[in-house]
Amino acid sequence: MLTNALRSKGMARCAVFLLTVGLATLAGLALWSTRSTAQTTARVRALGEVTATWGQVFLDLGVENEALNDYLRAGSAEGRSPLTSALSSAGPHLEWLAAHGDAGDADELATFRDTYGAYTDTLRQLIAAGNAGDSGQVSALAQEVGLGAASLRKQVDATISRHQLELSDYLAEVDQANHRLQVASTVALTVDFLLLVLCAIILLSHQRRVERQAVESRHRALHDSLTGIGNRVLLGDRVEGALRLAERNAETVALLLLDLNRFKEINDTLGHHCGDLLLQEVASRLSGALRDSDTVARLGGDEFAVVLPDIGSTAEAREVAERLLAVLQCPADLDGTAVDVSGSIGVAVYPLDSRNSTELLQHADIAMYAAKRGHLGVAVYDMETAQRDLRQLSVLGELRRALDEHELVLHYQPKVYTGSGYTCGVEALVRWQHPQRGLLGPGEFIPLAEDSELIHPLTDYVLEAALDQHDRWRDEGVVLPLAVNVATQCLLADTFADRVAAALARHRAEPGHLTLEITESALIADPDRAAAVLATLRQLGVRLSIDDFGTGYASMAYLQRIPLDELKIDRCFITTLQSSHGNQAIVRAVLELAHALGLEVVAEGVEDGSTETALSDMGCDMAQGYHLSRPIPGPEVTAWLAAHPLHVPARVP
Ligand code: C2E
Ligand code: MG
Ligand code: MG
Repeated sequence: MLTNALRSKGMARCAVFLLTVGLATLAGLALWSTRSTAQTTARVRALGEVTATWGQVFLDLGVENEALNDYLRAGSAEGRSPLTSALSSAGPHLEWLAAHGDAGDADELATFRDTYGAYTDTLRQLIAAGNAGDSGQVSALAQEVGLGAASLRKQVDATISRHQLELSDYLAEVDQANHRLQVASTVALTVDFLLLVLCAIILLSHQRRVERQAVESRHRALHDSLTGIGNRVLLGDRVEGALRLAERNAETVALLLLDLNRFKEINDTLGHHCGDLLLQEVASRLSGALRDSDTVARLGGDEFAVVLPDIGSTAEAREVAERLLAVLQCPADLDGTAVDVSGSIGVAVYPLDSRNSTELLQHADIAMYAAKRGHLGVAVYDMETAQRDLRQLSVLGELRRALDEHELVLHYQPKVYTGSGYTCGVEALVRWQHPQRGLLGPGEFIPLAEDSELIHPLTDYVLEAALDQHDRWRDEGVVLPLAVNVATQCLLADTFADRVAAALARHRAEPGHLTLEITESALIADPDRAAAVLATLRQLGVRLSIDDFGTGYASMAYLQRIPLDELKIDRCFITTLQSSHGNQAIVRAVLELAHALGLEVVAEGVEDGSTETALSDMGCDMAQGYHLSRPIPGPEVTAWLAAHPLHVPARVP
């Protein structure tokens, strides 16, 4: 409590204010003391001068008296001259006293001057009587002068005594004042000293707080606020330090980069609070499983890094990574919900596969993405894999250019009604007319595009090209139903339904003539979002089909929730239908289920006539496969249609 009070700004301000007041008081006291000393000196000097002048008057009286006595004793004219010159000798001193004397002395001085005037007059009369030779008159006046001189001396004596008394009273008063000043000064000095001590304590406590804050802010700058482990800056420092040491001692340093799997899902479904709890749990598990010399840091999001200085070999680094994964993989309790934790770790080793800290980080990152993509758990950086990934990256760059240059072309694979052989529509399948490598199948670039944002412009491109072809067929007099494949990311994009509606409107195409083929993975990734987008598309009038049905791992409950029109049984069940009883059973079950839900069924990968017949016998609605037609360029479809007309030929008026 006291410490808090000392730290408070109010307390500091108050102490400084009081100290200022204290010092001002001390300064005031010193000033007052100087002034009163000066006053005392002046007063004492004035009193001294007055007393001394009165003393001088006393002496003047004595001189006059001496001169008189000499004159009387001598009784000759020679004695008259000293008497005449001594006459009124006190006059100038009395003048001085009148001018500089005390105001209180004025009356006394006036009386004295009158008496002195009378005295000197009598003396003059005596001299005149002496000059006249009237010795009787001289001795009578000498008696009178003697009495006057005695009275004047008494008066002067009394005045001097009074002044001495006054001086001593005044000095006693000054003594008392000095004593009071001494007491006040001592008190002020003590208070000031105490305030000074208080200020010093406050200053020290503030300094200590500033030092502590500096330590804290340095800790904050190097540590992650959520988990308390190191951050990117600390990691950089530690990696640099470990590399320097490794270079000096010919050691090996490993860097592990860990990314949690499905962290976004946990964050989205259980909330950010649980996401934070998970990150804290992961940080504590990682810290607990490492040596003191190792460093664990959070780089941001769900990405962690571990520096292992002086690790024996790449194999040892991999072992540590696998041990960390094992530690991570126990379920975490997040506010009562048990959540499975898993991650992907990339390992890079200095100096074996990286020459400096930047490469070490880059390589660990590349290895981590390889681990994630391949669901490997742990992946050690491998130059060849990295170069392949780099090539894939360059393919992506090329693909971007290919879209601009219109190098992507569509082939169309017809779908027919089983039994009748009538065409019911075509599926648009993209190919890349590569300037050097020739015609590339979608397997060479669609998965790469799906891993990047490029899948969005690519899907728009395919939709636009397919509708362009649809326009051309319509111009030739055939309105041919069309199916386009849609990747999961596109379906989940906010603007997808609007983009489809705009494309249909631009081409004045009937929405019912467009089927969008989606895979079950879209329904697993974000079922609610997928259901909402599909409902909007369905409202537009677009047909919806589940592609490669049977290969996903979705719960079949979605079949009821989502407004579908069609199921396409994956070709893995169809190509071996004849030889596999199991596949026959699966196809029958799917047919029954789909029909019960009011859905049409397409069998993909029909490679021979007997399979088509078998499917027809089972009640499968439509078939698609090499037996009927391979995917063919748009212009060739017209020839196909001549041999296999549309079931309900729609003619443009
Ligand atoms: P999918 O949508 O299931 O397309 C059918 C694939 O099976 C096509 O391969 C087709 O050539 C092949 N196929 C058809 N009949 C037979 C058969 O009797 N036997 C065998 N073995 N295969 C047959 P393709 O054209 O290589 O396309 C592969 C996949 O690439 C497609 O599978 C689709 O998932 C994807 N794809 C194609 N075009 C696009 C596109 O424009 N956008 C997206 N997102 N994906 C596309
Ligand atoms: Mg398809
Ligand atoms: Mg398919």
